[in-house]
Amino acid sequence: MESKDIVIAIDGPSGVGKTTVARMVADRLGLKAVSTGALYRAVALHFLRRGLSPENPEDVKKGLKDLNVHQEYINGEIRTFLNGEDVTDSLDTVEVSDMASRVAAVKDVREFLLDVQRRLAEGGAVVEGRDIGTVVLPDADVKIFLDASTGERARRRYEQLRAEGVNVSYEQALEDVKSRDIRDSSRTVAPLRRAEDAIYVDTTHLTVEEVVNRIIKIVRELVP
Ligand code: C5P
Repeated sequence: MESKDIVIAIDGPSGVGKTTVARMVADRLGLKAVSTGALYRAVALHFLRRGLSPENPEDVKKGLKDLNVHQEYINGEIRTFLNGEDVTDSLDTVEVSDMASRVAAVKDVREFLLDVQRRLAEGGAVVEGRDIGTVVLPDADVKIFLDASTGERARRRYEQLRAEGVNVSYEQALEDVKSRDIRDSSRTVAPLRRAEDAIYVDTTHLTVEEVVNRIIKIVRELVP
């Protein structure tokens, strides 16, 4: 199989480093990277801007009407568009994170994004999220489940946010990771869980490069 046709699903909990790893794996294999979390975040931003509540079915209907969410992989960067506007730089706030896991629990939102995600994976891609190997792309060529301890994921999230200039304490990052873990694993629609055929990679004691090398090795073994 030509590298360009490979579909790699990377799932795992918040703060594990999926987006960074997906980008690096994509670049090494000449594929595009897709961050499905950013799609949920774009929907969340739309709900926040319009003052809509994901727990109110009327608001959900209003929010999804005429909504267009799209992603492009440009020069190794994932850019996310909300109704044509590049909102990439507005998606990484604590407010948007929190709203993203609320909109992600809504069945109609997940159905809306299902087609968007499948279209983005066409022609080969490294797609990261929570339910890629289980629901979105169950026939992916390679499925990886990335994990790390809660404390380590909070530390990574804290450092990422600080590097982006977001003023957040370690305790807030920990709280964010913990509350999203509970919501993502306990929701009834497409909860976070490892696909039976996904390869489990515990990244707690690994560097990003080590994680990427391990995934590339798995891909080479599974896709001759
Ligand atoms: O990965 P990221 O933290 O950007 O995702 C934001 C939120 O979107 C997550 O907390 C999760 O609730 C939701 N999500 C999801 N399914 C995906 C990707 C993200 O439910 N495939």
